[in-house]
Order: sequence, then structure tokens, then C-alpha cells
Amino acid sequence: MNPLRPVILAAAGSPRMKQAVTKVPVTAGVVRRFVAGETRAELGPVVRQLLDSGRSVSIDFLGEYTTERAMADAAVAEYVSLIDDLAALNDRDTPIPRVEVSVKLSALGQSLGPDGPAIATENLHKLCAKAVESRVWVTVDAEDHTTTEETLENVRQLRAEFPWLAVAVQTYLRASEGRLRELAADGARIRLCKGAYQEPETVAYQHRAEVDAAYLRCLDVLMRGQGYPMIASHDPALIEAALTMAVENGRGRGDVEFQMLFGIRDAEQRRLAGEGHAMRVYVPYGGQWYGYLMRRLAERPANLGFFLRALADR
Ligand code: FAD
Repeated sequence: MNPLRPVILAAAGSPRMKQAVTKVPVTAGVVRRFVAGETRAELGPVVRQLLDSGRSVSIDFLGEYTTERAMADAAVAEYVSLIDDLAALNDRDTPIPRVEVSVKLSALGQSLGPDGPAIATENLHKLCAKAVESRVWVTVDAEDHTTTEETLENVRQLRAEFPWLAVAVQTYLRASEGRLRELAADGARIRLCKGAYQEPETVAYQHRAEVDAAYLRCLDVLMRGQGYPMIASHDPALIEAALTMAVENGRGRGDVEFQMLFGIRDAEQRRLAGEGHAMRVYVPYGGQWYGYLMRRLAERPANLGFFLRALADR
């Protein structure tokens, strides 16, 4: 693991650091590299360009760990408007919609005390109902490990009504492989990612080689299962392995999907899409970009260099 990772992720939780960093306007190069803009108006052209290039998208309205009911309600309202906007851009004839949204349950109220989980479930249900109407599907992001069981339970319940509802699973969590066996047997759409939070050794692998090995084991479970694997990684070795495993398991181009983050490995995204693979780009927008940006900086020390230069130039 990169030695700066724990330091940057710890800073991600510091209100003072947040205050200093968010003074940088969203247009500062490094933020804009990872975040499509602050508003839906700024997001629109970015989405259209990605769709025109043959890629699919999953749009995230930035926000997490909501501490007030009003903020959760505001996030739901924004997602409803977003889904309306996106419906106009969607292809109606693909088996899996090219346009979807990603959502964090902590933004929908999960962390609002004892009633939080119920509030988040109710809010996610509203978004899923809206998604059916608009054919803009939903994936639930994976957050820190204290939320994982609750999030998976929430998704399990809602999948009875909305079987297309997808969820992200992090391979750094020791418990993920077992959880995936159940989800894969159930035919779920699963986004498999390494995991972006700072987690204790008791629950998560700490070394890169262990996380990568777990990724391959989890991917094997998904490829053999009944569901739809979504390989969310920029790692060339894992992408190569996924392409081979798909062939070995008789999965065609429409049975597996690759996913990458907006602003990362753009040429590789285009290459995979150009070869006819389903390639979805996770595109965040909104004013609450701090936590998201810090996780991207923690993944790659070189990004931190760009960011510090942007701060120094002000
Ligand atoms: P790495 O080994 O970290 O990276 C491989 C290569 O990719 C690097 O060598 C570099 O070339 C490139 N790269 C990776 N990260 C960056 C970066 N930040 N900047 C520039 N280049 C980079 N995590 C969660 O915890 N929950 C989620 O719900 C979640 N959803 C995700 C959705 C998508 C579509 C993707 C792609 C990732 C998501 N993640 C999520 C983040 C994920 O867990 C990893 O933290 C992140 O993708 C880095 O891991 P990697 O697999 O790309 O491999």
C-alpha cells in the first residue's frame, strides 16, 4: 500500500483540513479532473460526450455521512431531478441501461441515528421507484465497513421488488468473498472494487497483494455465478484476468461490464469500449467533492503532487 494512504484518508475526516482544501474552487485543475462540475447543467455536456464515445455512465451526486434529515431530503430531491434529466439521454433498447445513478446510503440518511437505516431504505425505495419509471437504474456504493451489513441488507430487501438494483462490494474486506457467494447465486448485479476507505486489520486486508488476490477470488465467484459482474478497477492485471475469466466462463460481451472513474485511464476506457466491451464511467458531480477527492488522492501519490501545486499557485 502507498505509505501516504492512511495519512490522506485520516485527513479526509478532519473538518479543518476540509475547510482549507474546499477553498480551492471546483474549477482548479485537479478537482475538475475527477469531478464533472458542481451542477447538473455542468454535468450534462460531460455525460453526452461520454455516451457519444460509446461508453456508459453511472452518475454520483456527491455527498456522504449526512447529519440532518433536511440534507437527506435534499439529496433525494436532487437525485429525482437528475434521473429526470438522464432519462432523456438514455437508450431505451439496450438490455442494461447505459445511464444509471450511483448513490451512497449515508447521503440518504443512513447515519441519522437509530432511525437512519429506515430513513435510508425509504429514500432508496423512492429512487428505485423513480428509476423504474425512467429506466435509469441504480447502484448502491460501498462505504466504510461499519455500514456494510446494513447496506447489503437494505439492498437485499429492495431487490425483491427491484431485481436490477446493484451494489458495490469491496475485496479488501475479509468477509466479502462469503457475502458474494450468496449475492452471485441470487443473480445480482455486483460492482467489484478493491475498496477506498481506511479500515482496521480486523476486518480488512492491509497489503496490496492480499487485496488483489482477494479480488481474483471474488471475481471467480461472480464469473461462475448467475449475476452480472461489474469490474470496477483501473488495474491492468485485473482487467486482463477478467477478460480471460469471462471467456473461460462462456460470458459474452453483454454479460460482463468494466467500470472506471471519470478522469482515470481515459485511453483505456476508450480502448475497451472500442473493442465492444461494456464500459461504464462513474461520474461524480456536486459541491461536496472533498471526501471523494481525498480518496482519489490517497490512491495515487502523484495526484497529491498535482493538488499541492494547485494549492500553492493560489
Ligand atoms: P489500483 O491498484 O489502485 O490502481 C491501478 C492503476 O490505476 C494505477 O497504477 C493507476 O495507473 C490507476 N489509478 C488508480 N487510481 C488512480 C487515481 N486515483 N488516480 C490516477 N490513477 C489511478 N470504492 C469503494 O470503497 N466503494 C465504492 O462504491 C467504489 N466504487 C467505485 C466505482 C468505480 C467505477 C471504480 C473504478 C472504483 C470504485 N471504488 C469504490 C474505488 C476502488 O475501491 C479503488 O479505491 C480504486 O478504484 C483504485 O483501485 P484500482 O482497482 O483502480 O487499482
